[in-house]
Amino acid sequence: MGFSAWQVASDKLKNSIGQNNHTSWIEPLTYKGEDGETAVFEVPTSFFGNYVQQHFEDYILYQLRNAGLQVSRVLFSVPAQVPQNLNRSTFESVASPERPQELTGAKLDDRFTFENFIVGKPNELAYAAAKRVAEGGPVTFNPLFLYGGVGLGKTHLMHAIAWELQRNQPKLNVMYLSAEQFMYRFVQSLRERKMMDFKELFRSVDVLMVDDVQFIAGKDSTQEEFFHTFNALVDQNKQIIISADRAPSEIKDLEDRIASRLQCGLVVDLHPTTYELRLGILQAKIDMYRSAYPGIDIGPEVVEFLAHRISSNVRVLEGALTRLFAFGSLVGRAITIELTQDCLSDVLRASDRKITVEDIQRKVSDHYNIRLSDMLGPKRVRTFARPRQIAMYLCKQLTTRSLPEIGRRFGGRDHTTVMHGVKRIEELQNQDSQISDDIIMLRRALEG
Ligand code: ADP
Ligand code: MG
Repeated sequence: MGFSAWQVASDKLKNSIGQNNHTSWIEPLTYKGEDGETAVFEVPTSFFGNYVQQHFEDYILYQLRNAGLQVSRVLFSVPAQVPQNLNRSTFESVASPERPQELTGAKLDDRFTFENFIVGKPNELAYAAAKRVAEGGPVTFNPLFLYGGVGLGKTHLMHAIAWELQRNQPKLNVMYLSAEQFMYRFVQSLRERKMMDFKELFRSVDVLMVDDVQFIAGKDSTQEEFFHTFNALVDQNKQIIISADRAPSEIKDLEDRIASRLQCGLVVDLHPTTYELRLGILQAKIDMYRSAYPGIDIGPEVVEFLAHRISSNVRVLEGALTRLFAFGSLVGRAITIELTQDCLSDVLRASDRKITVEDIQRKVSDHYNIRLSDMLGPKRVRTFARPRQIAMYLCKQLTTRSLPEIGRRFGGRDHTTVMHGVKRIEELQNQDSQISDDIIMLRRALEG
């Protein structure tokens, strides 16, 4: 009967969200049943599920209830995770968010898996260490301490470990939470005089993960409690995984004895992303978006542009891509560099490394051994003209200057001259490997 309720609800949804949305997002859902509280749908990918959840969950719930189904939430699962028989117990071990707060940690993001993590030079060690811990064999290093700047994948790796452990050893009590949540619970237990419960709870976990531990630095009683919890678990040979935004010894106001305990295991850092890693991450995300945005594609030149220009952190990179796809589908146009510059002007400005036209002119004239005055002057012989065009091309690529502005900085040339130069270099890059090598090198030098 739930199934016919879904039929009715689905028809009604057409009116509230429109035929197009209905075709793209509702029809691909497969209704799997409900457990008296939650209606479960199978979705093709977890990205798809997240999207539907964010945009249509309320509508779906509303219509399901209108159609007579007594449910209070909706769950979107990829095939492997859909519970086989929808009674409450199996259900909760799959969809942990509904377990009582005291028994689990924070909710795990189902996109943060090892499969979705792109490995490159900057993160290969962290990845390997995380993988090892996720195997769940005998504890070899304790704790695993992951550190690195914002948005480099610390939380992603921690969730991936938790997912993997839960999948392989469902009985294992894995607790993931942020240091902030740890403190919050600690304070709450103090207030409610439930310190015994608190201690018992934390000492009964098999694997404890505390994210962003720098947060408790300087918070004395929380640090103290954390230290005791930590020691108790290490004594029982339970695995602990910690993350922070910097190395233990560099966390200000963290007690020395805690810092030194944190260094006892394996300390690995995630390095800032490289251009190659950013390309890989973008490509993987784009593959994911393909099913969600059929008909919209993003060419390699745009991908390279993004990887070059947004180097701050992966979160920003992802956000930029999401926005680009949404924008592209809204305006129904191909995603070009121009569209990208329009749509992401704020992001691009913020992560602008402030390479100036002068930097480029100087580097390029050095490289080709010509005088700056010849690059900017009127002579049109190839020895000067080619470096000049390359410099113009790099200005277009690496700065936010417009063509007329660039022209002005090159001895007052017209913007059509700049445009011609940029085009010429784009063509030559594909024909002349010397030129494309030069450009790669110059670009590195400028960005490095
Ligand atoms: P941190 O905790 O280090 O601040 P997160 O783990 O929250 O960073 O990562 C920020 C975002 O970037 C997340 O959406 C995450 O999935 C993504 N991300 C980071 N590194 C990678 C990677 N190597 N491959 C795929 N996605 C990544
Ligand atoms: Mg994090």
